[in-house]
Amino acid sequence: MSTQSLEKEFAKIAGQENVLTQEADLHAYSYDSAVLDQVRPGIVVRPADSESLGKVVRLCNEHGLKLTVRGAGTNLSGGTVPHPGGVVCLTTALDKILEINQDDLYAVVQPGVITAKFAAQVASKGLLYPPDPGSQAVSTLGGNVAENAGGLRALKYGVTKDYVMGIDFFDVSGNLVRTGARTVKCVTGYNLTGLMVASEGTLGVFEKIILKLVPPPKAIKSMMAEFDNVQAASETVSSIIAAKIVPATLEFMDNFTIKTVENFRGAGLNTEAAALLLIEVDGHPAQVEDDAAQIVDICNAHGAVKVRQAENEQERAAVWQARRDALPALARVRPTTVLEDATVPRSKIPAMMKALERIADEFKLTIGTFGHAGDGNLHPTILTDKRDVQEWERVHKAIDAIFDEALALGGTLSGEHGIGLAKAKYMHLEHGTAAIEYSRKLKEVMDPGNILNPGKILGTLLS
Ligand SMILES: Cc1cc2nc3c(=O)[nH]c(=O)nc-3n(C[C@H](O)[C@H](O)[C@H](O)COP(=O)(O)OP(=O)(O)OC[C@H]3O[C@@H](n4cnc5c(N)ncnc54)[C@H](O)[C@@H]3O)c2cc1C
Repeated sequence: MSTQSLEKEFAKIAGQENVLTQEADLHAYSYDSAVLDQVRPGIVVRPADSESLGKVVRLCNEHGLKLTVRGAGTNLSGGTVPHPGGVVCLTTALDKILEINQDDLYAVVQPGVITAKFAAQVASKGLLYPPDPGSQAVSTLGGNVAENAGGLRALKYGVTKDYVMGIDFFDVSGNLVRTGARTVKCVTGYNLTGLMVASEGTLGVFEKIILKLVPPPKAIKSMMAEFDNVQAASETVSSIIAAKIVPATLEFMDNFTIKTVENFRGAGLNTEAAALLLIEVDGHPAQVEDDAAQIVDICNAHGAVKVRQAENEQERAAVWQARRDALPALARVRPTTVLEDATVPRSKIPAMMKALERIADEFKLTIGTFGHAGDGNLHPTILTDKRDVQEWERVHKAIDAIFDEALALGGTLSGEHGIGLAKAKYMHLEHGTAAIEYSRKLKEVMDPGNILNPGKILGTLLS
């Protein structure tokens, strides 16, 4: 079918105003938040209701058109870089919160709902939706589920998969498949809901998501510990966990990140500190007091130069603003920012920090490291300029070295950013070839024409 006829077909489904073919639009949807080459789609379509979404999927399958679903495009692994000349399907118009059930503690949402708007709606009903990715002001719940996004609270509360009770999705033929339930327990059949989480748009297109809600904690205490030695800070993380305390949040910043954040906002951080730990405990007030006191003792035992406790909401907000500033501040230093999420067992954080320093030296690169130290999820952030060909080659080598090291320490390629295009080539190193073959067979059965986000997760062999 010619491009013009296809455009007409999509317009019949979604309305002419929701079919985009102008050069500027195709350019706008040719990349995402990963640093990868741009790939222009052939057409962009924005269904306004779920029926149209299903029809778009069916039409793509009938014509063998490669389909990439896109929420906010904030993923950091190339998950929404389209197939050349393929279709980009935007979920931004599917943005309704269909139900917030306060009796049974769940919500039903469309995939294009913005994460922070949802969390705020839930909070206004006196409940909590814990997953809080740093991108929550713009990311969508569909994108969060498809990437299994994590966030600052993941240490205690888990990641998105821990809150997904069910997903209704369109299979490749456009049939609506209902999975999961609104009940706390549901063990009927294969765990199709689980299969869809982290599937990065390769197995089905989410139409509706059922999410678990929890009561919010009664008390919260935040603190900031300064260290003059990176190893002491990383060993403190291991010791807090070993003491069987589970903070809601336990974040790390190295000296380079501290200085850059301080230059960015002037929040009063100690730029002499080699590392900072930002820690928050929550729960019953008595437990919070007890945990906080133990954490202060552990920090001091590891030689913390200073431990500051937030005395009020304003001071607490300042602690977390400093952490939220880490990526935007680093991103201003050089033209290109490569944010990785190599993750290691928590006890291996000191070893990983040493390795990152060695890798930065070896490849003569600037690497600022911050991240979710409590769950072993570090974000080594390489500050570079993609236009410098020689430096860019060294960046690639450094990324290989970072993942080699993380895997050698018993870690994983991704704590939260997914695999997408960026890390597909490393998958066999973590999971072995049998797991890749099994996944490919699954993909072949569910999507025989390989139209759903081809090349993502499993590499290019199927594309
Ligand atoms: C500044 C910044 C901070 C970030 N912080 C975090 C963080 O703290 N934790 C974290 O985990 N991530 C973080 N990220 C990464 C990113 O925000 C997450 O991966 C997020 O979940 C992506 O949501 P999105 O709506 O942008 O999805 P997109 O990027 O649009 O899509 C992501 C994937 O989901 C698929 N998809 C989208 N909608 C559907 C659907 N309806 N059905 C099937 N598949 C679908 C897409 O095809 C793609 O493969 C950050 C990114 C940035 C830029």
